[in-house]
Amino acid sequence: MWEGDAADVRRRNWILPSIVLQTTRVGDIHRSVTLLTESGLVRAMAHGAAKATSRLRAATVPFSYVRAYLYRDPVRDSVKLIDVEALALHHHLSGDLLKYFTASLWAEVVIKSHAGGLQPDQLQRRLLVALDRLDGAGADEVAEVSAAFLWQALEHIGVAPEIDLCSACGRHLADSEGALLHLADASLWCRSCHGEAAGAAGLVQELDAGLRGLFTVLRQDGASPPAPPPAAAAGATTVATSVTADVAELRHQEWDRLRRLLQQLMQHALERPLNALACAAGIL
Ligand SMILES: [Zn+2]
Repeated sequence: MWEGDAADVRRRNWILPSIVLQTTRVGDIHRSVTLLTESGLVRAMAHGAAKATSRLRAATVPFSYVRAYLYRDPVRDSVKLIDVEALALHHHLSGDLLKYFTASLWAEVVIKSHAGGLQPDQLQRRLLVALDRLDGAGADEVAEVSAAFLWQALEHIGVAPEIDLCSACGRHLADSEGALLHLADASLWCRSCHGEAAGAAGLVQELDAGLRGLFTVLRQDGASPPAPPPAAAAGATTVATSVTADVAELRHQEWDRLRRLLQQLMQHALERPLNALACAAGIL
């Protein structure tokens, strides 16, 4: 029933594993859905999708992963979603504000960067891994999961900052050394160069050794997910457990700082504000 191949521009029917990034009401029962497929972004009409009995219902669940059956009308140059199979619904994202806004932010980043241009399949895989992790994450893990995806997205778009080299003098910074990051062009400056360039344009963010260390963790992890936080050792005493809890809390605060910094960097990279940040003021 499904015909043609990717090289055939006249092809009308497509079956594409897709992540639902956004759904918009069209009338009472229809939805326009924005999908991230392995070939890039697709906007498709899902007729009657909001009806309780609709077989397209999974496509109205934000951040679900579905197999989408699409029909492209060559005359109107529009795409219709005609069937859908749920592959992963990510049930815990819609009931948790922090997770919901986090996933919304990621979706907005993907849409506004036009899926990062080249190799949308890679971005799709990374987003899917991130959504799976976010779905199962505890409240204190969300910042780390979000920082990891935002970093990958910055790398994918090609605007991830260099965090070891001063962009002015080219010097390799020591691990213990703090630096300054210009948000406008994601350039890193050592302290002495920055002192000389007083009045340089753009917002500047202090990047202490702690944050630079977390950047290193993200970079080393690459496409693989960051390690889970260390679990308390079996048989630990009460004192040891509370020390572990303090360490975990500190670690969480550090990831939270990095997440906020990456959110700022992303807004500058996309050259426009991210609505999810405005909507979720104080949460993200
Ligand atoms: Zn320098």
